[in-house]
Amino acid sequence: MEMPRPSTLKYIIIGDTGVGKSSLLLQFTEKRFQPANGSTTNVEFAAKMITINDEPIKLKIWDTVGQETFRSITRSYYRDSAGALLVYDITRRETFNHLASWLEDLSEHAGANVTIMLIGNKCDLARRRAVSTEEGVQFAEDHGLYFMETSAKTAQNVEEAFINTAAAIRENIEDRGS
Ligand code: GDP
Ligand code: MG
Repeated sequence: MEMPRPSTLKYIIIGDTGVGKSSLLLQFTEKRFQPANGSTTNVEFAAKMITINDEPIKLKIWDTVGQETFRSITRSYYRDSAGALLVYDITRRETFNHLASWLEDLSEHAGANVTIMLIGNKCDLARRRAVSTEEGVQFAEDHGLYFMETSAKTAQNVEEAFINTAAAIRENIEDRGS
């Protein structure tokens, strides 16, 4: 009997520089944390196999590396992505304040059907918190996003965030019947 080919899901990680996008991807794919990530100037990409309801799925995740200045990300980066992790840093309010601009960028380039997981990262830095969990929950509710707080450092909720995003994308695709 032939094994079914795993389906592939593609999504992107966006958000301001320094919020922990590359660290989240590294923690998810390699289960490690690098305190001082050097950035390069290219878009990087990682693939990982997961299973949702016993079904194997190949996740392809694209990370912006050094292109996070608003509106400097090329349109092709958004093309064909079924979803996005939109990340802010709970210790830096300006990264939360920029979320609306990121959403505009997404709706302009990625289309209306994109599934978005809002991520409040660095939740290990509780004493430096500048954005409350409630504000994150509220913003997500107001804009129809999923929401989680994560720590790329301690790995808290990291696997869940990536897998829940994939599961949400699948559900939304099935709901649209396409
Ligand atoms: P990017 O520009 O969004 O890709 O952010 P990076 O992944 O390069 O992370 C920026 C800085 O924040 C680095 O020094 C990371 O080590 C640090 N960092 C990332 N995630 C976390 C986290 O969850 N907790 C803490 N304490 N530091 C983090
Ligand atoms: Mg990065």
